[in-house]
Amino acid sequence: MDLLPVLRWLAATLLLLFSVHSYGQPEEFGQKGTQVPVIDISALKHSVLHAGASYWVTDRDLTVDQLPLGEFQPLTAACLNRGITDDYHWVRVRLDNLAGATEKRWVLYHETSYLDELSVHYADNGGVRQQADLSDRVPFSERPFVHRTLAFEHVTPAGGYTDLWLRLHFVKADTLTLNLFLSDVGQFASAAHLEYLLLGSYYGLMLVLLIIALLGAFILRQSLYLFYAFFLISSLLTWAQLNGLSFQYLWPNSPWWHNEGFNITFLLTSMSALQFSRLFLKTKALFPRVDQLIKASLWLMTAAILARFLGVYVPVLYLSHVSLAALISLAVLGFMAYRRGLGYARWYSVAWVLYGLGLLVSVISAGTSLFNWGMAPLYYAQAGGALEAIFLLIALGEKLVGWDRDRRVALAVANEDPLTGLGNRRAFEEAFDRLQRRSGAGGKRVFLVLIDLDLFKVVNDRYGHDAGDEVLKELGQLLRRCVRPEDVCVRFGGEEFALLLQAPSARLAMDVAERIRAEFAATPTLYQGEDIEHTLSAGLAEVGAPEAFTRNQVIRMADRALYAAKAGGRNRICLYGDGPESQPGLSVAGDE
Ligand code: GH3
Ligand code: MG
Ligand code: MG
Repeated sequence: MDLLPVLRWLAATLLLLFSVHSYGQPEEFGQKGTQVPVIDISALKHSVLHAGASYWVTDRDLTVDQLPLGEFQPLTAACLNRGITDDYHWVRVRLDNLAGATEKRWVLYHETSYLDELSVHYADNGGVRQQADLSDRVPFSERPFVHRTLAFEHVTPAGGYTDLWLRLHFVKADTLTLNLFLSDVGQFASAAHLEYLLLGSYYGLMLVLLIIALLGAFILRQSLYLFYAFFLISSLLTWAQLNGLSFQYLWPNSPWWHNEGFNITFLLTSMSALQFSRLFLKTKALFPRVDQLIKASLWLMTAAILARFLGVYVPVLYLSHVSLAALISLAVLGFMAYRRGLGYARWYSVAWVLYGLGLLVSVISAGTSLFNWGMAPLYYAQAGGALEAIFLLIALGEKLVGWDRDRRVALAVANEDPLTGLGNRRAFEEAFDRLQRRSGAGGKRVFLVLIDLDLFKVVNDRYGHDAGDEVLKELGQLLRRCVRPEDVCVRFGGEEFALLLQAPSARLAMDVAERIRAEFAATPTLYQGEDIEHTLSAGLAEVGAPEAFTRNQVIRMADRALYAAKAGGRNRICLYGDGPESQPGLSVAGDE
């Protein structure tokens, strides 16, 4: 599959997304000024505060009474993404239930799990103002409303209204969005159920992949699978943090891990991805420079993690974001490796394109105020991450298949005689043991035939070594023609060949050998216009059960029979006979 069209298609889709998003200009809200921004909640189901609220930014920690209400701006979709900041962001809105016949119970919550502080100042029907300070810098159990992001629940009286002043703030600068959601309590619960279902399927999928990766690492003993598993674990942790589930379930009593730990898991994700890629793409051999670069960045990220433990914040934050965004370049590296012959790198590339797209958009969305998408792209990135993990596994599978194919080819080459294409002595030993076991277990009888060319030195001397080789090749073809597929024929070495024949009796095995002898003697080899006459001798012995004879004993027996054939005048076949001294017995001569 060629990747170029895929990349082009993805680029076009991305461009389209960009243009669609920037086309719809946010609606203007009222006039800048003292007018109170109002949202009617009498029929509230689910809404976002940026249609109807106003906001103001300051770097000083003011009280509500100090707020210059005249300077508040309409909170439009265009102002949602604030980039990395520790400024105080105020949001002002009145929730109006004047038309409501019953009281309205609602939940207000922020979209990200990592917002440090959300202070809610609220007053019903112009009455006394109250304050709720929500923070993710205290244990999870101290949340007044149990939710993975900071959330506040309140009741607006029937025929009344609630004034809200919200203060959003990062104690240590981070990526802020002003995306605040307002939901009827019942709606909120059913939406949360759906969310947990979707998130649960993501974690379920990742856990299955993790189990496969760990099994792969354990069974195949390949560190590649281990690094893939590390990558899955750090991705899982990263998303558990971003989804707010790690603070809710994994370490509810550690605000440090929830806050400062964020960038550490980002960095671990990048590091495991890079280390995995080094092994997977063989960067050391294929791209030495890139490999050096990756190595250097691995050290840099290790240093950044240590720095975070020592209390360094903002530089580590930036580095972690950049490192995640830079991972998209792995798609290019994978593509280059694919072009250099690593077939399985294509799925690796597709995986990083899928991951990179979602990631790039969310990092830009989180770290800058270029888009007005809030943090919604995070969910694309999460879905992209899941697809990526699947494609990486496919790539690993393809690599494994290729590895197995190479191994088989190597094995075949190691067992083959290059001149004749027959098996070699190694293949013979394997086949011998296999057939002997089978014969010992009640299978057919097996006979070993050792063949040696007669006076082959003379052939070499008279016609040359190349002519000799030609004779050997012809004999190879002759042997292949004369034996059945379940028999084995190999070049034993030099001008010696061996057959393992499965036959019901010695007589029938002798017949096969005799046919070979006769045909070889009757068909001279034509070499450069000359007919080379030749003959062969052979010795035959029964293989028997493994308990009866060892391989070497059987070879010695056949060799003795062969010696007898030579001694008897060559161009004949001898069967190793019984008798006390195990002297070769029956001999079948060709030209006697
Ligand atoms: P005998 O009938 O007693 O077996 O006589 P011989 O000449 O065949 O026996 P000997 O073992 O003395 O010589 C074997 C010759 O086979 C010697 C060597 O040059 C030749 N030979 C061995 N391997 C090859 C090969 O791969 N190619 C060629 N052309 N000749 C080979
Ligand atoms: Mg935080
Ligand atoms: Mg010979």
